[in-house]
Amino acid sequence: MDQVREKLLTERAAIVTALETNDHKPVELDQTAVGRLTRMDAMQAQALAQNVRRRRQQRVMAIAKALLRIDEDEYGYCLSCADTMDPKRLEIDATAEYCVACAEKEGL
Ligand SMILES: [Zn+2]
Repeated sequence: MDQVREKLLTERAAIVTALETNDHKPVELDQTAVGRLTRMDAMQAQALAQNVRRRRQQRVMAIAKALLRIDEDEYGYCLSCADTMDPKRLEIDATAEYCVACAEKEGL
C-alpha cells in the first residue's frame, strides 16, 4: 500500500509542477498583429491548453481521493458494489474507484 501511496504522491507532485510552470502564460490573442487564421490557431491552442489544465486538475482531485481512501483503509474496494478490485485495474489506474463490472454498468 505504501508503494501505491508513493506512486500517487509522485504523480501528483509532477502534475502540480506542470500546472504551476506551463499554464501560467495565457495564449495572447492580439487581434491587430495576427491574421485571422493564426488567431484561430491561437484560440485552438488556448482551448487545448485549457483542456489539458482541466484534465490535470481532475487528476489531482482523483489522486487526493485515492490517498484519502488509502488513509481510511478503503482503498481497493469498488465504491459501488464494495467488492475488492482487480489489482491489475489498480495497476493501470491507481485512482480507479469502481470495479470493471460496475464501471461498465454505470458507463464510468
Ligand atoms: Zn463494483
